[in-house]
Amino acid sequence: RAEAGPRRISILGATGSVGTSTVDVVLQQRAAFEVEVVTAQSRADELAAIAIRLGAKLAVVADPDAHGALVAALSGSGIAAAAGPAAIIEAAARPVDLVVAAIVGAAGLAPTLAAIEAGADIALANKECLVCAGTLFNRRAAAVGVGVLPVDSEHDAIFQALEAENASAVDRITITASGGPFRTWTLEQMSRATLAQALKHPNWTMGRKITIDSATMMNKGLEIIEAHHLFDIESDRIDVLVHPQSVVHGFVAYTDGSVIAHMGAPDMRIPIAHCLAWPKRVAVATPRLDLALAGTLTFEKPDLERFPSLQLARRALESGNWATNILNAANEVAVQYFLAGEIDYLDIAATVESALDLATATVGGAEVGSIEAALTIDAEGRRLARETIARRGRLRAG
Ligand code: NAD
Ligand code: MG
Repeated sequence: RAEAGPRRISILGATGSVGTSTVDVVLQQRAAFEVEVVTAQSRADELAAIAIRLGAKLAVVADPDAHGALVAALSGSGIAAAAGPAAIIEAAARPVDLVVAAIVGAAGLAPTLAAIEAGADIALANKECLVCAGTLFNRRAAAVGVGVLPVDSEHDAIFQALEAENASAVDRITITASGGPFRTWTLEQMSRATLAQALKHPNWTMGRKITIDSATMMNKGLEIIEAHHLFDIESDRIDVLVHPQSVVHGFVAYTDGSVIAHMGAPDMRIPIAHCLAWPKRVAVATPRLDLALAGTLTFEKPDLERFPSLQLARRALESGNWATNILNAANEVAVQYFLAGEIDYLDIAATVESALDLATATVGGAEVGSIEAALTIDAEGRRLARETIARRGRLRAG
């Protein structure tokens, strides 16, 4: 990274929670960045407003039906508009220094891989990319020679605590978890958990999908897999610790007994700013950590019986990339059904487990060697999850 002048960036998923936090950081450091592309699923007016504020060159919506509204909202601005999933991929491949990958779900895989192939460094929020096709992702990033900077707060913490020159002296890494809204609930209480209760995250304001993932702790399961791919470390050396205050985000334990932890207020602008400016640091107005105010920091082991998603993720990671791909796809479907009020909270993990079991017979052992293979297995995971949900519905209906 030796570029002079402003860093050229694109933001995929600019209207989302991470996307708008990124916009905020960029606006605070206006002179340091030049924005090429911003994208969104459908919210044309919001995307156009972001494109105009950032002075982007191109705005793209994935939903073709939103094209007209985007063109209208950008008229007179000189900013180009495009629509459709292929246009997102094309836009992601425009030459820039850094692409912020903040699309949610496996939908982000093709655009992020396109950005890698085009030679951009990646600030990766979209952890599902790695869960879906981590081996392929890393192989391509290494082949092209691009860097992957973890935006996810726990992974950004580990990234900062890792001493490059002492990689072989790393004993274990730990990522923390808030424990979500159901941290102290019994399974019996969880069986009656409502959508509104699951959407009430204690510490972070985030998109709906990751908020539900936090309530099931599947988010931490996905993050174990993410950590494995980012830091090339096996599952049994990646620990999860529940830390309800979300002040310590992660730490690295070294073989001499030293433990280097990373702290910060729970605000995504902090890791985003770190990734955008890396290897430098920039000043960004974010909530400051006040440890005297926090007073007490507590840590506890996660309860694997009440949060089975953690074990499902580890099991998938040990089985291989086909299994983590199925885990992710089934989880995306189950969360969609839960958000639509069609299944109960406890059905989410049960659906993922069932899809994993069923997939062993259909795609067990399959290689995730190409994007096509990744998307084929992803489609199978979605099919098996829907089939499971339909079967359970029929059973219930008697
Ligand atoms: P979000 O739902 O708020 O935003 C998602 C963005 O992706 C939006 O801009 C949306 O328009 C776009 N999008 C959705 N589906 C799309 C599709 N099919 N094609 C193209 N664009 C699409 O989500 P978020 O909370 O910002 O999370 C984004 C990613 O970052 C997720 O992978 C999440 O796990 C990760 N992440 C989020 C947080 C957080 O604080 N929100 C923290 C760590 C990691
Ligand atoms: Mg996280």
